[in-house]
Amino acid sequence: MLTIGSLKATMRVMLPPATPATAALRVARRGWRLQYLDSAQSLALGERALALAANDDPLGSGWALLVQGFYRMRHAAPATAMEVLIAAQHRLATAGDAGAVILADVGMARCQLNSGRHRAALARLLPHRAEGLSLLRDQERAMLLNGIAGCYSALGDSAQAFAYMYEALRDTRPARSYGIDVVLYCNLAHELYELGDYEESLRYLEEGVQRCAQLNNRRLLSTLLVNRIVCLTDLNRAADALPDIERLLQQPSGEATARSSATGYESMAVAAYRAGRTVLADTLAARACELLADEPAPDVQLELTVARAEQARARGDLTGAAAIMRQALPLPSDSGLTLRGRCLFVQTYADLLQAQGDSAGALAQMRLWQQLHLERTLRASRARAQAASLQTELMRLQRERDAIEARSRSAERAREQLAAINQQLSQRVSEVQALKAALEQQTVRDFLTGLFNRRHLNDVLPSMLALAQRNGEPLAVSIIDLDHFKLINDRHGHVAGDRVLQGFGALVLQSLRRSDVACRYGGEEFCILMPRTHAHAARRKIDALRRQWRASSFEVDGGVVSGSSFSAGVADSFTAEGSAERLLKAADDCALDAKRRGRNQSVVFAAARRIGAAADRAPTPAFAVQPHAPDLPHHS
Ligand code: GH3
Ligand code: MG
Ligand code: MG
Repeated sequence: MLTIGSLKATMRVMLPPATPATAALRVARRGWRLQYLDSAQSLALGERALALAANDDPLGSGWALLVQGFYRMRHAAPATAMEVLIAAQHRLATAGDAGAVILADVGMARCQLNSGRHRAALARLLPHRAEGLSLLRDQERAMLLNGIAGCYSALGDSAQAFAYMYEALRDTRPARSYGIDVVLYCNLAHELYELGDYEESLRYLEEGVQRCAQLNNRRLLSTLLVNRIVCLTDLNRAADALPDIERLLQQPSGEATARSSATGYESMAVAAYRAGRTVLADTLAARACELLADEPAPDVQLELTVARAEQARARGDLTGAAAIMRQALPLPSDSGLTLRGRCLFVQTYADLLQAQGDSAGALAQMRLWQQLHLERTLRASRARAQAASLQTELMRLQRERDAIEARSRSAERAREQLAAINQQLSQRVSEVQALKAALEQQTVRDFLTGLFNRRHLNDVLPSMLALAQRNGEPLAVSIIDLDHFKLINDRHGHVAGDRVLQGFGALVLQSLRRSDVACRYGGEEFCILMPRTHAHAARRKIDALRRQWRASSFEVDGGVVSGSSFSAGVADSFTAEGSAERLLKAADDCALDAKRRGRNQSVVFAAARRIGAAADRAPTPAFAVQPHAPDLPHHS
């Protein structure tokens, strides 16, 4: 016999490399998923997968056999199913699929359960609990839990059974349950009526029957319906069970099976007798005997006994009925008989004895029934306590999860806030940087004209001069003074004057080289530094600028300003040797000279001039271009 230990050893040795799923495996897995949704289709796929599986595909053929094994477990004798499941498990172990090996055991445990070997079934499953729960997901996980629950249920430990069933139900997301949620409803309902909680049981059955409409699983529907018939019979509402019996009879033969190996016909027969439908009941009882398994579950056997007794009673044969019941006595104490089964038997027997006039016998049976009922009640209260603590545990977990979610939500919010803050911060940083750059510009730029300011001129002129001197290159400087600027202000206002100053700034910027430095020297005075430029070349540029300036016109408030001119002085570092101050002064003096000579002209500093003596001596500029062109700006 294959043991778990030997399987694990095999798996460790033979773990295969991760290979893509074969066609057989894919088909088998599809069949596996369909086992509750569409059992016939599931079997068909299992068979096709096995046909598809190559010799060296233990995973594909293992799963194919697993699907077939599970189908047989539900529809065939336990021994047949067991054989297939063992073969499946061998292959799955060889393939190293630990989860599937556990599933094979789930199937085998169910087979053992069906043949009344409850403890063996539980012993098979319990060792898989921890590993199974970490390996299996969704439907498969619920199958393991449901399997363990089934064992506990069969062993009469309802509290454990409920715990496992609720755990399975909690883990089962309807979207990925593939119908096992209906199985769980069915089993919960069964467990509930075992404990005498018929009303609650009926609610689960109702839910399950409704869900079944979406499945193509006649066996599951049959099981639900049989369970409902049982509930209604026990509630003395056997007549209400007749529609379910009719419905079951319309199912194709062989499908009406309930609770593993049971056929369900025995339960239907009892219900029909109790509802007074003797003919129907006789048919059902006959069918029950026909379909009875070789080794029927003790409960089925007992219910069939009750059905036969009811049959005799229906014929008026009370003695015969009581005799049938007596043959079953004494009821074995640890045969896996359920409390519900015992209760049904004892109650029916008490009824029969009473009808026969055997009050003492009836009373004894009623006492027995009372004991059973007490045990049922105790079991029910234990189960309820377990369910309540489970509920509490679930609520605690729920709260914990909610708290974690809230924390992660608030962490999310915090992250978002942080991101927003970061965004604001970086925005502020770039604002500050822009502001700083603007401030820097403001410290070097004249804000009206956009040219450099006098401070910048003072900063750069000495270094530009030093560089020019070191390189042996000339540095030209020109001082420009707009002619009669006061008139513009006077005629058009200060704003118009500003506008004209801006216009001059723009013209200077566009007509100079990049290496030139243009500054606003004072009000309407400008200074231009021209590296690597001799004075005469500089003067040509200044004269060109002057012509452009003269051609410019500005629309100002109240008219147009055009025909403006300027007077300029030009010097270079070769002729006005020495310091920056000397150079500037030379250009400035020449500008004054240009004014004196009639404006709208430029004067170049000649080396012969003596710097500092311009005020008292007549300047001798080297060049004076186009003197006395109209020097007044035109105003209209
Ligand atoms: P000249 O041809 O002799 O240079 O005559 P001018 O009127 O240009 O010279 P003056 O020195 O008499 O006057 C300069 C005028 O420039 C006076 C002042 O109001 C004006 N001015 C100086 N700075 C600004 C300014 O920023 N905006 C305006 N609108 N006017 C200014
Ligand atoms: Mg001036
Ligand atoms: Mg002026």
